[in-house]
Amino acid sequence: MAPKIPELLAPAGSYEKLVTAVHYGADAVYLGGVKYGLRARAGNFDNEGLQKAVRYAHQHHVAVYVTVNIIAHNEDMTGLGEYLSFLQGAGVDAIIVSDPGILAVAAETVPDLPLHLSTQANVTNSRAARFWFNQGVRRLNLARELSLDEIRSIKNAVGGEIEIFVHGALCISYSGRCMLSHYMTGRDANQGNCAHPCRYQYALLEEKRPGEYFPVEEDERGTYIFNAKDLCLLERLPELVAAGADSLKIEGRMKSIFYVGGVVRLYRACLDYLKSLAPEAWEHPGQIEIPPHLLDEIAKTGTRDMTQNFFDKKPGAAEMLYRTSRFEQVYEPVAVIRQIGEGTLVEARNVLQTGDTIEYMLQGAETEEMQVNRMSDERGDTVMRANPGDRVYIGFSCVTGGLEVNGMFRRRRGPSDISS
Ligand code: SF4
Repeated sequence: MAPKIPELLAPAGSYEKLVTAVHYGADAVYLGGVKYGLRARAGNFDNEGLQKAVRYAHQHHVAVYVTVNIIAHNEDMTGLGEYLSFLQGAGVDAIIVSDPGILAVAAETVPDLPLHLSTQANVTNSRAARFWFNQGVRRLNLARELSLDEIRSIKNAVGGEIEIFVHGALCISYSGRCMLSHYMTGRDANQGNCAHPCRYQYALLEEKRPGEYFPVEEDERGTYIFNAKDLCLLERLPELVAAGADSLKIEGRMKSIFYVGGVVRLYRACLDYLKSLAPEAWEHPGQIEIPPHLLDEIAKTGTRDMTQNFFDKKPGAAEMLYRTSRFEQVYEPVAVIRQIGEGTLVEARNVLQTGDTIEYMLQGAETEEMQVNRMSDERGDTVMRANPGDRVYIGFSCVTGGLEVNGMFRRRRGPSDISS
């Protein structure tokens, strides 16, 4: 029998990212309010913005989960009950928690609001999973440090809803429980304010030789000893689906709309492909091959190289990226469609010029190449160039029926852009 296709859960670090995630096929989004959610700098939603976000998502049949997953201190409890009641009133579909104190307040004040356990709670075994389900949690986001076998065995043992991170940046610590940022910069990762010092370049210093930095070198560019590659389990979705994952989560509330849309559409396309398979294909999920163009496309979304992390075995040096901390981006965003009617009104995200060849990112994995053959500003005056933030009408060399509001255009970066 074919397994149930899981929910695709996308990051929504801002209203625009939410709209993009919805456009490219997310079933659910997660976002943070101004307080209580990790990712303090993710452009979090104030109360009004949160209500607007829920309305928009629900109009498009997309669920909204709100992070309330800081490691809370006593002072954080002040006003928490009111905030949770507000979230329930706003119609959010679940809150994401990790702190037992917050869970207790939620159980008292909003007992009907479903609770999802954050990956910050580090569930790595069936007993812990059962413990949290017994506390009234509806869903567990399992720790990222689990193999496929462990995920399967936890699901088989407890049966409840499980959510698995499938894509995005990784920590070198257990799912974010890390003090590196706090020690080095005063910004606390456990309060959602990580400065990502694991991506910094480090050197060796002998205490009697202040100022003399001995390079720790992988190559001439240095060594980034804490810098993990990014997670990508696109290729392994058949096994995760067969293991009973209920939700597949993409990391990245701090990332751009280009990243969010680019990743969401490929996971959507992959899940839709899996849904189309005949039941017999599921007799050997490990043998189901993901269409190669999906794997090619995911490499174009911008990454710090890719790893499957703990999926088959404990990660080693091969899962670290020692040569650079840079986020490799072969393509760059150029514009987002804001309106379609008399013409196609776009908002430029990079310099866009008449004559440029750009690619439209359709829903699904396809792209369509086209050339910009005319541009005009909102008064109708012809322009040859649009700068980031400008809104211009564009015309193309070929007519396409696939353009939609909130769809994005990208352009391949030149070799000098990529190596800069
Ligand atoms: S410093 Fe790096 S490992 Fe630590 S919490 Fe931040 S991103 Fe994660």
